[in-house]
Amino acid sequence: MTEAPSPRTKVRRGAERADYEHDTINAILDSAMIAHVGVQTADGPLVLPMAFGRDDTNLYLHGALANHLIASGTGQQICVTVSHVDGLVMARTPFHNSMNYRSVVIRGEAARIEEPSEQLRALKIITDHVVTNWDLGRPVSEKDRKLTRVISVPLAEASAKIRSGDPIDDEEDMAGPWWAGVIPVSTVLGEPRTAADYSGDRPVPDSFTAHPG
Ligand SMILES: Cc1cc2nc3c(=O)[nH]c(=O)nc-3n(C[C@H](O)[C@H](O)[C@H](O)COP(=O)(O)OP(=O)(O)OC[C@H]3O[C@@H](n4cnc5c(N)ncnc54)[C@H](O)[C@@H]3O)c2cc1C
Repeated sequence: MTEAPSPRTKVRRGAERADYEHDTINAILDSAMIAHVGVQTADGPLVLPMAFGRDDTNLYLHGALANHLIASGTGQQICVTVSHVDGLVMARTPFHNSMNYRSVVIRGEAARIEEPSEQLRALKIITDHVVTNWDLGRPVSEKDRKLTRVISVPLAEASAKIRSGDPIDDEEDMAGPWWAGVIPVSTVLGEPRTAADYSGDRPVPDSFTAHPG
């Protein structure tokens, strides 16, 4: 485990679950569908779910020009959180119930991407994050691009926190009869369903079905 990249990113509670390795952080980001993005707005803090993508140095977000959260966050410090629930940890007493999880928190200043080719590159990264499809549909037009705001936040200040394994119960309860264990949780992509009004003749793209279960 490397050191936390900054004092504010250092996991204090449950520090043994912290991981600051880029590979760990990237793996958690790459297997997540959405991020929760927190910003300070003129009328108070706001956290919203959003699609995202990343490269080696930045995480990217996009929204319509009218998007309040993205407009508020541009040029400001924002916080992006990604989390997976891997299991419900059922302890011998509900007091010690927990969850197995993998999460990442990224803190940094959001910058607007205005250069057209950079904007398109970021939009492709976001679009292909879960399922590769940028090159499979009608190309994004200049009008589409201009209607979209894209921001980046550096991955430099990021931490991961991971819990796995069995419940941790009190010593005096260990011989008790109460069931203890883990209920696994997973998110899977199902079989694609063709739109009722689809009139083309193309099969479902391979990248829509060739995903890990
Ligand atoms: C899985 C998922 C992925 C999404 N991905 C994107 C994305 O990539 N880009 C994007 O622009 N938007 C995305 N959205 C929608 C996003 O959460 C916001 O609704 C949207 O960006 C509008 O933001 P705004 O700040 O302009 O909202 P406004 O309409 O200005 O928000 C006003 C108020 O509406 C409520 N509100 C807004 N959004 C939500 C919400 N999602 N759920 C419940 N209440 C809400 C809040 O109380 C908020 O204060 C996604 C939503 C989900 C659930």
